[in-house]
Amino acid sequence: MSEQVLLGDEAVALGAVHAGLTAAYAYPGTPSTEIVEYLIRYAARHGGVQASWSTNEKTAYEAALGVSFAGRRALVAMKHVGLNVAADPFMNSVIVDISGGLVVVVADDPGMHSSQNEQDTRYYADFARTMCLEPANAQEAYEMTRSAFELSEQFHIPVVLRLVTRLAHSRGVVRVGDTRAQNPLRMPRDRSAWTLLPANARRLWRELLDRQQDLRAYTSRQGENRLELADSRLGVVTCGIARNYYEENRGDLPFQPSHLHIGAYPMPIDLLRKLVAHVEAVLVLEDGYPFVERALRGVLPPDKEIRGKQTGTIPPDGELTPDIVRVGLGLQVRQGVAAPPIPVPQRPPQLCAGCPHIDTFNTLLKATEGLHARVTSDIGCYTLGALPPYNAVDSCVCMGASIGMARGAADAGFHPAIAVIGDSTFLHSGITPLLDAIVADTNMTLIIADNEVVAMTGGQPSAIPSSRMEPLLKGLGVRPDHLHILETHPRLVDRNAEILRREIEHDGLSVIVTVRECIETARDKTKKKAHA
Ligand code: SF4
Repeated sequence: MSEQVLLGDEAVALGAVHAGLTAAYAYPGTPSTEIVEYLIRYAARHGGVQASWSTNEKTAYEAALGVSFAGRRALVAMKHVGLNVAADPFMNSVIVDISGGLVVVVADDPGMHSSQNEQDTRYYADFARTMCLEPANAQEAYEMTRSAFELSEQFHIPVVLRLVTRLAHSRGVVRVGDTRAQNPLRMPRDRSAWTLLPANARRLWRELLDRQQDLRAYTSRQGENRLELADSRLGVVTCGIARNYYEENRGDLPFQPSHLHIGAYPMPIDLLRKLVAHVEAVLVLEDGYPFVERALRGVLPPDKEIRGKQTGTIPPDGELTPDIVRVGLGLQVRQGVAAPPIPVPQRPPQLCAGCPHIDTFNTLLKATEGLHARVTSDIGCYTLGALPPYNAVDSCVCMGASIGMARGAADAGFHPAIAVIGDSTFLHSGITPLLDAIVADTNMTLIIADNEVVAMTGGQPSAIPSSRMEPLLKGLGVRPDHLHILETHPRLVDRNAEILRREIEHDGLSVIVTVRECIETARDKTKKKAHA
């Protein structure tokens, strides 16, 4: 046993290595990025495990599934909305007979610090009929990752590990154990259990449903879930990280409520029943959606009071905090020390000085002067083109949506319809909607702002270098006479705007790739060279 100070994400990564991980895959996404970043560094230093970035969460998931198929242990990591992209293999992989342990780490972002929604991964795990573990601190993140591999192999299912931003990005002291040897390569015990033809799938689905009682038996024992029966006036249910906020306030209460902590799902129905039978009222503290609260409302007698997000005792949106929990427990808000007023200038988010996207947006604004252009955008630094001084973007919904939406907007009659997408987002989810637009020769213009990296999450490499973008686009079927690869630079804005304007006037699909490396990545490279 030794101790290390680790981020929640890093504790997951090290827990996986110590559990005998063979390979890990991910597409970067805040707040999960540091898991595979840690594993890539670990693999470079120590060898033994493979860790790499994938083109998107679906391809990452499928690679991890292949490792499990070969009998070895795999981890796939993503942010919560990434699971939407990987939902197809995820839902189906719960039905197959998982061989090597498969752990699906999903980092939710309550409070939307860097996301477009607050979706709660516990629903996905429940929807797929699989198990979900929810650590409360970095130590549990480490331990639960190790357990998740064991449970995956015990029950032959992928096991979800749900993190939230506050845990993924907090550091804590973690006691770490020994490293387990990797599994040997082995054939699945039943090949038909990996081939989801309807006849096989019907049998496997039935078997999965039969296994639910084993999963519930596991979560109803005292382990990750813990029940302490105390005062009967109130029962507090905490889920994952909410336990810390409760513990911080518990000592100030005039009595000690009964307490059920949930760190493993399916819902521990027996423990919930015992708690509810013992208390007059229940307060549910959970980050994300009212997942447990809603389940309780369905099973409790109507005279039993339940307090939580649905009653307004806890705000229905945003992150939990110790003070929110304090108010939910009926305690007075603590008075903080009044900080002396410091005049802090407003700093709205903006593109870095010298960012190549600045030149792309200046080009776009110049080319569309006098036109009623509709610009659908995508997820990346360039989404900031929606804000002043550019105000150049009308939408940003999900990865890759810019292209499909521009196609639909053009079909509906908008002209010019222009999509702006970064190179890594294009490779992640933009290729298939572009194929649709190519097939239909949609009257739209696509701008791929190619800065050569996944800039927003810290400069991870794009799936392919810029030099391969042109052959890729030609190979997809973009007409060479309406495909332009343009260096972007302040001195080239006028020239590029002329080309873009011509292509906007073309009655059909045009693709413009504006290329220059992210200035932050370029600076990092220069620094590294200087220190080499
Ligand atoms: S990180 Fe790179 S791409 Fe993002 S705003 Fe800064 S310079 Fe532009």
